[in-house]
Amino acid sequence: MSFTAAKWRGHFPLLAAHRDLHYLDNAATGQLCEAALDAVTSHELLHRANVLRGTYRLAEQADAAYENARRQVAAYLNAASADEVVFTAGTTASINLVAHAFGEGLNAGDEVVLSLAEHHSNFVPWQMLRERRGVLLRILPLTADGRIDLSRLAETLTPRCRLVAVTHASNVTGAVTDLAAIVAVARAVGARVLVDGAQAVQHGPVDVAALGADFYAFSGHKAYGPTGVGVLWGRGEALAALPPFLGGGGMIGRVTVEETTYAPPPRRFEAGTPPIAQAVGLGAALDWLRVQPWADMHAHTARLAQRLIDGIAVLPGLTFLGPRDLKQRLPIVSFNLEGIHPHDACQVLDGHGVAVRGGHHCAQPLMDFFGVQGAVRASLAPYNDEADIDALLAGLKDAMRKLG
Ligand code: PLP
Repeated sequence: MSFTAAKWRGHFPLLAAHRDLHYLDNAATGQLCEAALDAVTSHELLHRANVLRGTYRLAEQADAAYENARRQVAAYLNAASADEVVFTAGTTASINLVAHAFGEGLNAGDEVVLSLAEHHSNFVPWQMLRERRGVLLRILPLTADGRIDLSRLAETLTPRCRLVAVTHASNVTGAVTDLAAIVAVARAVGARVLVDGAQAVQHGPVDVAALGADFYAFSGHKAYGPTGVGVLWGRGEALAALPPFLGGGGMIGRVTVEETTYAPPPRRFEAGTPPIAQAVGLGAALDWLRVQPWADMHAHTARLAQRLIDGIAVLPGLTFLGPRDLKQRLPIVSFNLEGIHPHDACQVLDGHGVAVRGGHHCAQPLMDFFGVQGAVRASLAPYNDEADIDALLAGLKDAMRKLG
């Protein structure tokens, strides 16, 4: 299958409807692919019913579609079983699930290790756990260019460490985490590993078996699927060891007035009516993504990221956040231009039809580390092309003229 950005773009209905839009905010939300849109539409039109409750044919069709989506996610992640896939509302919900269910078993003095590069979704739930259980949070420091400093692993992961929760890739710098190194040290101290995959899944299939982590969280909307759905993958025995987080319908074995027994995973963690059509859409998106020509697509987005990095490198007053070496990063480029507030830059860029995000990107500890309040961020997808980058560069020059 040969790849061109134009052909890929053709699979995204919103981009066909907005031909003049230079959409470079893919780290916030990817556009919905037609495979997902078609699957959601046909599910809602033909198979809509609640799941795991009805015995009539329509309900059985809804069950089959929902469980098929679970298998599609499992295939994308190379999970050992579809039962390792829990549907949630998104990355944030998945991490909170683990913070509650796993956190339930932690006590004062137990340690949870995060990195300074985490999104607030992988900071705040652990700070809340610290309030509830008295656990200690230890923070993995960063190298000057914003990568997790692996030389500090051994001293940060003590024998009291119970869980390491780190991002697969930073939503600000695009820096990709060396998970193998972290998993090895975590294993040596007997700690579990949770990976925040929110920024990684949309860049190609993930092999959770090879990663060796225990939990992997991501959101559908960043992987060209619907909003409102996400995934918590958990290694079979790791999920089985967790108590439920939310209680309600669908997650039980038997309920009496006196007590409740719980269903095995994944249903134990899916209380209430799940996001059914959204899960079906996400399954279809990942099924489509799984067979895309990723090597060509990576080469394409890396070329575009280089064009962008080279283009901003010559602008006066540039502060660049993160590693410059494209081998260590995803095509997410964050920067500041001296004297120009990121929000103002984004507003001028919007006038040029360029959609990028400016702000702290839900990563204030990382912003503090870089000594900035916010940054302009362009995050690329395979449907982007040279015209998108050039429009961004032209917009930045205009912003410098107007605001600098
Ligand atoms: N983690 C990272 C690295 C992210 O980039 C994001 C979203 O930007 C999240 C977590 C939270 O994702 P969601 O808002 O879909 O739950």
